[in-house]
Amino acid sequence: HADLAMYKAKELDRNNFHFFSHDMNIKVMERMMLENSMRKALERDEFFLVYQPQVDARSGRITGVEALLRWNHPDMGLLTPDRFIYLAEETGFIVPLGEWVLMTACRQNRAWQKLGFPPLRVAVNLSGKQFGQHRLDEMISAILLETGLEPEWLELEITESAIMRNADQNIAILRSLKEKGISLAIDDFGTGYSSLSYLKHFPITRLKIDKTFVQDITTNPDDAAIAEIIIAMAQTLKLNVIAEGVETRAQMEFLSTHTCFEMQGYLFSRPLTTDKFVYLLRDGISY
Ligand code: C2E
Ligand code: MG
Ligand code: MG
Ligand code: MG
Repeated sequence: HADLAMYKAKELDRNNFHFFSHDMNIKVMERMMLENSMRKALERDEFFLVYQPQVDARSGRITGVEALLRWNHPDMGLLTPDRFIYLAEETGFIVPLGEWVLMTACRQNRAWQKLGFPPLRVAVNLSGKQFGQHRLDEMISAILLETGLEPEWLELEITESAIMRNADQNIAILRSLKEKGISLAIDDFGTGYSSLSYLKHFPITRLKIDKTFVQDITTNPDDAAIAEIIIAMAQTLKLNVIAEGVETRAQMEFLSTHTCFEMQGYLFSRPLTTDKFVYLLRDGISY
């Protein structure tokens, strides 16, 4: 267990650290290094967001943009969220970090509007731990007020598992966010424990088909069937649907044929820094 391992590492640090296997040493050391540097990283401006467009494949129009977190670590280089989000969640640092992400994404979206681009929805990933945070909905309202972004241009992406961890309480929080006019998407849909009876009660606006189904959608009949079922389910429940991880024209065509028109993935664009994203807004997307 990671906590135990760290405790042991600290104990053994003084005498025989070499007791650990090489791999274990690296893991434990990386963890300690990240944990120590994470707190300072916010003040030192080491975090930044990249933005990936969401596209209506029929018209090529950009309908939204997902904000994705990156950490420019002084010693370890560029880190993607899989390297540090779990730690931020374990330590509680996800609360100030998540607030920074929301503030930055909303401010950026408002800045694009002020430049005269047609308004877009910005999607921000919300960790399950942020639900436990005191007055999440008030914090988000304050950010919208401060940045001047209308709630309709903010979408929160949440996984089923995050909602289900404390379903009744989280559904109430989601409901109050939705009442403010904020959009709510279920991220990585199909990979969690989707209790269909619960799904009906989620006050959500959108399902996001997980990229693991999209990956083999044209070659694996099971994945194709799952994607079709999710699309049909969205239609029945009157929810929007988007596919993530679209990399090929064949995947795009399959999804379009099955009436999922909104897509996100490398076929359209990688996640981009703000200075590059503005060119996409200006020139449009070619694929
Ligand atoms: P996610 O929200 O499901 O985001 C989609 C991930 O797929 C992103 O990875 C994105 O860069 C990647 N991706 C986009 N298009 C393609 C494609 O065509 N093919 C493939 N193979 N991958 C594609 P990333 O940026 O490394 O983020 C990983 C996860 O980290 C996210 O998954 C999300 O769960 C989490 N995350 C990212 N930013 C934040 C944040 O600000 N807060 C929280 N709590 N979690 C975040
Ligand atoms: Mg997401
Ligand atoms: Mg996803
Ligand atoms: Mg994911």
